[in-house]
Amino acid sequence: MASVSPRRTKIVATIGPSCSSPDRLDALVAAGMDAARLNLSHGTHDDHRERATLVREAQERVGRPIALIGDLQGPKIRVGDLSAPMQLTTGDRITVVMGADGEAGELPIAPAAIGEVLRPGHEVLIDDGHVRLQVEEVALGRALCGVVVGGPVTSHKGVNLPGVPIPIPSLTRKDLEDLEFALKLGCDFIALSFVRSAADVRDLKALLEQEGSTAHVIAKIEKAEAVDALEDVLAESDAVMVARGDLGVEIGPALVPLVQKRIILEALDRGKPVITATQMLESMIHHPEPTRAEASDVANAILDGTSAVMLSGETAVGEFPVEAVQTMDSIARAVEPSLGYRHQIPEATDDPTIGNAMSNAACDLAEALGASAILVPTFTGRTASAVARLRPTRPIIGLTHKRWSVQQMAIEWGVTPIWIPETKNVEDLWSRSIEAAKTAGFVEPGDTVVITAGTAVNIPGSTNVIKVDVA
Ligand code: PEP
Repeated sequence: MASVSPRRTKIVATIGPSCSSPDRLDALVAAGMDAARLNLSHGTHDDHRERATLVREAQERVGRPIALIGDLQGPKIRVGDLSAPMQLTTGDRITVVMGADGEAGELPIAPAAIGEVLRPGHEVLIDDGHVRLQVEEVALGRALCGVVVGGPVTSHKGVNLPGVPIPIPSLTRKDLEDLEFALKLGCDFIALSFVRSAADVRDLKALLEQEGSTAHVIAKIEKAEAVDALEDVLAESDAVMVARGDLGVEIGPALVPLVQKRIILEALDRGKPVITATQMLESMIHHPEPTRAEASDVANAILDGTSAVMLSGETAVGEFPVEAVQTMDSIARAVEPSLGYRHQIPEATDDPTIGNAMSNAACDLAEALGASAILVPTFTGRTASAVARLRPTRPIIGLTHKRWSVQQMAIEWGVTPIWIPETKNVEDLWSRSIEAAKTAGFVEPGDTVVITAGTAVNIPGSTNVIKVDVA
């Protein structure tokens, strides 16, 4: 039987100053990082270029694919340039001026276009909602606001306007520049922030197609509009992220847990990878151990069925980046034996693709026969996702000759991606797949394996065969 027992939930780590050295990245990969996220809201292109190079070098050294995610800032609203930090006092009034700069005693908020939509009664939440204002009057590009919760405000802090439709395109000029840069870096995924509708995702996908890019789109669900349009957003996206930081500011923290469960379940049903993000091990920014509440949060996201869990500040700027990845790894390993196989009997009314029906049958066979592994030779990784959505107890090996596909499968739950050379006929594909699974330690001679693949080799979406074989 197999000599390796991989963790099934994947770990995404945000790369920042705390882990931008070859040694640190090697340590993160050794601790179990599966994907590296470059947060393009912060840092320069030179910083990110250096980090991307370090990630790819670490990947080569360890011989395990690591997904590279370029996370676009999106239509983020921010405090403009302040000559000095402001201290707002609860109960006082403050004039908000729309644009990058204001006069002394005014609070500038950019971009100026929000002046078109701000109305009395709207809430203006600054710095993750630590400071809260309520609009009382609006006139001539200025809004008089009551300070509901006071506190310090510094330049460029994030601003949220819950429920206010923002008249800004989903891809700003900065995003378009960052997108071009991220594609040149070879990012496998582009994460789109503040998605409001399926059209936002479609626009990005159209740009990717125009560029001839194979990058996949991760839609970040962090606005109430995206939650309302979840089904359509999921249909357009390759993957989603439960971006709990901004989501919690937009809809309030109390609603986040159930929304998280809903997003994960709907993504699972559609066979799309879902990443649960933000504040998972927040206290580990400064401490080597998580709180018990954080350990439970990571465990619960895994029990909800998330494909991946994400670290932000913990790895980007924290004091214990490697320990944070190790902690996620050990929580996942402790929890995963409690996950159940999601056996499904597909109905004619379900998404009636042959790929889904084949993956259901392949998983059932693998479970019934106690197969050592489910081998999925795949072009785009789509069939591996269709298998993963059932959360089978047997390891899933995704095999492809496409480098980008190997890297994209790195975030898919339970899938070990392995690169194999291109082959022209199906018999070769099967035997190469078995050999690769043996070499990787998943399968021993005499073990039973289940293979699901297409007889039309190298044609995406052509999965039509299940084969039970003895290695
Ligand atoms: C979030 O808001 O939870 C998130 C992941 O986005 P960012 O880190 O880009 O703010």
